Amino acid sequence: MSRYDLLVRGGTLVVPYLGTIRADLATKDGKVAAIAVSLPPDEADTVLDATGKLVFPGAVDAHFHLGIYRPLPVDAAEETRSSLVGGATTVLSYFRTGQHYLNKTGPYAGIFPEVLSSVAGHAWTDYGFHLAPMDTAQVGEVSSLVEESGVSSFKYYMFYKGFNLSADSRDAKAFTMSDEYDLGHLYQLMEAVAAANGASDRRVSLSLHCEQAELMRLFIDRVRNSGDPQTLKAYSDARPPLTERVAIGEATTLARATDCAINLLHLSSGEALAAAREARIAMPEVDMRFEVTLHHLCLTHSELDARGGLGGKVNPPIRTAADTEALWAGVVDGTVGWVASDHACCLEQEKGDQLWPALPGFGGTALLYPILISEGMHRRGLSPARVAELVSANPARAYGLDGRKGNLLIGYDADLAIIDPDLEQEVTTDLLLSGQDHCPFEGRKVRGWPVATVLRGEIAYLNGEVLGSPRGAFVAR
Ligand SMILES: [Zn+2]
Repeated sequence: MSRYDLLVRGGTLVVPYLGTIRADLATKDGKVAAIAVSLPPDEADTVLDATGKLVFPGAVDAHFHLGIYRPLPVDAAEETRSSLVGGATTVLSYFRTGQHYLNKTGPYAGIFPEVLSSVAGHAWTDYGFHLAPMDTAQVGEVSSLVEESGVSSFKYYMFYKGFNLSADSRDAKAFTMSDEYDLGHLYQLMEAVAAANGASDRRVSLSLHCEQAELMRLFIDRVRNSGDPQTLKAYSDARPPLTERVAIGEATTLARATDCAINLLHLSSGEALAAAREARIAMPEVDMRFEVTLHHLCLTHSELDARGGLGGKVNPPIRTAADTEALWAGVVDGTVGWVASDHACCLEQEKGDQLWPALPGFGGTALLYPILISEGMHRRGLSPARVAELVSANPARAYGLDGRKGNLLIGYDADLAIIDPDLEQEVTTDLLLSGQDHCPFEGRKVRGWPVATVLRGEIAYLNGEVLGSPRGAFVAR
């Protein structure tokens, strides 16, 4: 029997919060077992040559939507496969009751085991779930979900109050299938999450989708009454950054009142980021962390509208070039905690050519490392270690995976993204190995692309192909 299972030789290790070191890394039983300047190749079963490559910790894609529009097993199989392409080895997926997903409601005590059994055996990456308590009874389940089900993060959608946004109907209750989904519900939910956080040794937090519903109602009506243009610019005008600012004010104010740890998800605009910064300065005692997505960093509605189609419809909407630059500035200066994909596989036929009924969301998980390296490291001077913090270490810490995921240290899961920092690729739909049949990032040229992805010590992706069978496991947090 060999001393090591896998030896990654000749590469440069990227260690979050530390920097880069030229070292070999060996694994045993799925864990990082040795790091040294040189390790003997005859002591490992498999040797992977990483000369000239950067060896990153596998990305933790902290914002994902398995099973939102397609059956959970199909999304688990096809969308986590896409994650491997980009060096992501863990996905943290949102789930809620109500329309889409399983299209039903009820206690998570009954529904969450059904979610887990639907995904088991299909995922190529490790995975966990954030759950959204949609009614009062589910709020009562928070502490048991933390203590017994390995769920340490929850979600509230500030824009579901009042009306259903993805169809012409304004019946919010038909969509959420809840009783009272409003700030009163949010306050109770924050109390429950704060209590669970106080009782747990890991961080228990609430993530918020910040767009303000009543203002959206007004601006959507204004856009519809002004000739109803079928563009992504119109969609942004209908849900303007002001709605994010107001929602951020509400969310952070209630977080302070309840002492709840929060994550502000997918801040899409310079205005939203400014509001988040101001809240952090005004309320330094609140544990608040900020997320941005790849698409809000990289895409603009004007470039997508010039190309045509509604594939880029997403909530919050794609904004302007000034917004992308403001968000990058927040990434560079450390305001932003992590970058995620908000991956939601949505086929072209679900988008159609009508703006309002088109389903929101699209995939991007395969581009986490490529875009952070290309646009963040090469173009804006982020260090490799900072890139690793943004897509791996920081989300792992925020969501209760520290000590296991998100770093290259002895005893951690041997999840690796081995990346050629100078390999140039033009993004195509086919390259990403997703089930999605279009890609809003199509045609983008990136420099920096994974050549191999290792999940718990075994090579799962190599030079464009996934290897073996889906070995992803649920990570209780
Ligand atoms: Zn999302």
